[in-house]
Amino acid sequence: MFHSSAASILFAFLAAATGESPFVVALDPGHGGSNRGAPTARPELYEKHLTLEIARLVQRRLLGEPGLKIVLCRTGDLLVPIRARTRCANQANARLFLSVHANAASVEQGPGSQRGFEIFVLPASDVDQEVARAALLADDDAQAAWAAHRARTTAADSLAAARRIRWRLADALGSDRDRGIKQAGATLDVLQGLDMPAVLVEVGFLDHAEEGPFLLSEAGKKTVAAALAGAITDLRSRELRGQRDPMTTAPPGQRRGTTAGRPASVSGP
Ligand SMILES: [Zn+2]
Repeated sequence: MFHSSAASILFAFLAAATGESPFVVALDPGHGGSNRGAPTARPELYEKHLTLEIARLVQRRLLGEPGLKIVLCRTGDLLVPIRARTRCANQANARLFLSVHANAASVEQGPGSQRGFEIFVLPASDVDQEVARAALLADDDAQAAWAAHRARTTAADSLAAARRIRWRLADALGSDRDRGIKQAGATLDVLQGLDMPAVLVEVGFLDHAEEGPFLLSEAGKKTVAAALAGAITDLRSRELRGQRDPMTTAPPGQRRGTTAGRPASVSGP
């Protein structure tokens, strides 16, 4: 129901503003169960194994961190439907949804030919749909305006979170591995229907001769997990300081322009 969802968002906002509620992050390890994701050079090992291990490492690193709580939306080798993943994040009142994936080059690109990490947020057309959906569910104009504002702010905050994750991954893996923040080129269904900023990260290419084995190594997993954990603590600190991405405090007209009209890439490599 819209009422309860709006109330919970408002509550989370007010609680966060007073510093009382933990900064909850819903981590979503991609794939699981029969949905194995990209293969690796080892026949028994798939993307689903790596994403869960990275998510667990992030959770372990942030365990005991004051004011932070990590919720895993997949905790074992299970097939978890997309709607269950979004429900997990919404019910946890998460302030950030982070879906973790690993890549494989397409047939057109040529297997093994690609490397690097890339980060995805919803395209502007999907944001417009979320805004329209929020307005439709509202009871009156004031509520519709507030709901639309929330949806747009959430989209801007998604981009701010993506930037922070990108910065941390580039710092950890090298800026030559940075393929940029994108809004197309991956299946982004899991980012829809969420009440909070949402980002999907592809940490690297499993079919690349060097990057694949590195990502699967203990050092590789730890490096990626440390970068993601660092981005989460950065975002938490920034919220505590009351600082936001400049874009989110820009006039609505300008803010709109930052996500509209750039379907393929917000910022390329
Ligand atoms: Zn995936």
